[in-house]
Amino acid sequence: MDFRGLTVDDLSSVMELESSVFVSDAWSSESMRSEIESPNNFYLGLFEDGLIGYAGLSTIPGSFSSDIQTIAVSSAARGRGIGRALMQELLRKAKAQGSEQVLLEVRIDNEVAISLYASLGFERIDVRKRYYQPDNVDAVIMRLRITQPLVLGIESTCDETGVGIVRGNRLLANALHSSMDEHSKYGGVVPEVAARAHLEAIAPTLNKALAEAGVQMKDIDAIAVANGPGLAGALMVGIGAAKGLALANDKPIYAVNHLIGHVGADVLERGYVQLPTIALLVSGGHTSLLLVRDLLGDAVLLGETIDDAAGEAFDKVARVLGLPYPGGPQIDKLAATGDPKAIRFPRGLSLPKDMEKHRYDFSFSGLKTAVARYVEKAEADGETINPADVAASFREAVVDVLLTKALNACAEFGVDRLLLGGGVVANARLREVAQQRCEAAGIELRIPRFSLCTDNGAMIASLGAQLVMSGHAPSSLGFGAESTLEVTVVQSP
Ligand code: ADP
Ligand code: MG
Repeated sequence: MDFRGLTVDDLSSVMELESSVFVSDAWSSESMRSEIESPNNFYLGLFEDGLIGYAGLSTIPGSFSSDIQTIAVSSAARGRGIGRALMQELLRKAKAQGSEQVLLEVRIDNEVAISLYASLGFERIDVRKRYYQPDNVDAVIMRLRITQPLVLGIESTCDETGVGIVRGNRLLANALHSSMDEHSKYGGVVPEVAARAHLEAIAPTLNKALAEAGVQMKDIDAIAVANGPGLAGALMVGIGAAKGLALANDKPIYAVNHLIGHVGADVLERGYVQLPTIALLVSGGHTSLLLVRDLLGDAVLLGETIDDAAGEAFDKVARVLGLPYPGGPQIDKLAATGDPKAIRFPRGLSLPKDMEKHRYDFSFSGLKTAVARYVEKAEADGETINPADVAASFREAVVDVLLTKALNACAEFGVDRLLLGGGVVANARLREVAQQRCEAAGIELRIPRFSLCTDNGAMIASLGAQLVMSGHAPSSLGFGAESTLEVTVVQSP
């Protein structure tokens, strides 16, 4: 016996079984085709020298609710638990998608089916009179409630100590402490200072998250922690805390990838992440372009910065202009009154020769140097610069190159969705140009609320919950901090 998802190629064998099982009220071939083809549906077939049973599940994204559309078992194969096996597979799928209930309707005279559903945990909630025509038979509506896991997530990859709590795909708490201010006198994140700050912030942030969610540590079903990529010393604090909590409270632990967490953050915004998507993650530590087809199993790093991160470039250029750290918001504000076309600054890795080897990679150090040279030259020549024009022209160069490459990726991989993440997403011009270019190209732009774009514990909890809901085994306690964790590793063993 062999389960597999059905496609329209299976339509004729499905229809053969359909018309033999449902003699008086079989679906038409057209209805069945659109059922199987619908992106919201999952049809499963069971094969044994041909199709002997099938069942369909429908889940409207963001509804947290699934429906059993149909279930059929060939008369020759009855009494072997095939209906139960099909149902169990569909329920596994509903759970993995984050559904909190599954509904079905069944003929009131089909006692075998009703008792099967009851044994799987379904309860009668209603009766619809004369639902099945032309036989004039009532339908019993049944519901199975699914309690999705309560997962606590810890984030400490850079300068944010984040603790988030989710139940399945729902956000319950997102507590955060940032050590940004402590880094300001150094003009950038200092790893040792960040690690020390995590140590001081972790317990209060954990307590804040538990209070915000209104739950206690004993209620938590699993703990997730970002174990990379990030600063080693900073990661160790979050990992140490997560392992301590897991051991002390006897909870399973999931070590997850911080970057995939950013992509998954959109789950908490609308109950699901629409895939495939191109993801552009831009922060003080990362500038990464990802193609994600499956959050838990198919993410590819298309490119990343070969020198400074985008946020880092903002911070460094701010210093050149005498602005305080963090430079991003300062430059953004100053640029609002400047002319973005005043100075033509270089677009890193955008020349034809670079595009061969570094099609989706970024480089911002040449841009930073170009700004510094421009300012130095003006000073040497005794000219006064217009800082607003410099800021606007610099910002334009960063935004242009980020979005040109991201939209190239959308076009070349045939993906009509772009998701943004990271602290640089706060940039007003980045948001504006992203909106314009995506609209022009017919691409859906997703920007989660800002507290889910910057580093946070909720996205880590959410990715952990996805793993739990899909039945992945926990990580062993032996995992460590992985500064350069690859995006292909969603969970460390
Ligand atoms: P990380 O924790 O990796 O350093 P964050 O996600 O915390 O990154 O984002 C901080 C970075 O985002 C800083 O480099 C900051 O300058 C940049 N940033 C914040 N706001 C803006 C903005 N409006 N425009 C550009 N960059 C910004
Ligand atoms: Mg940060």
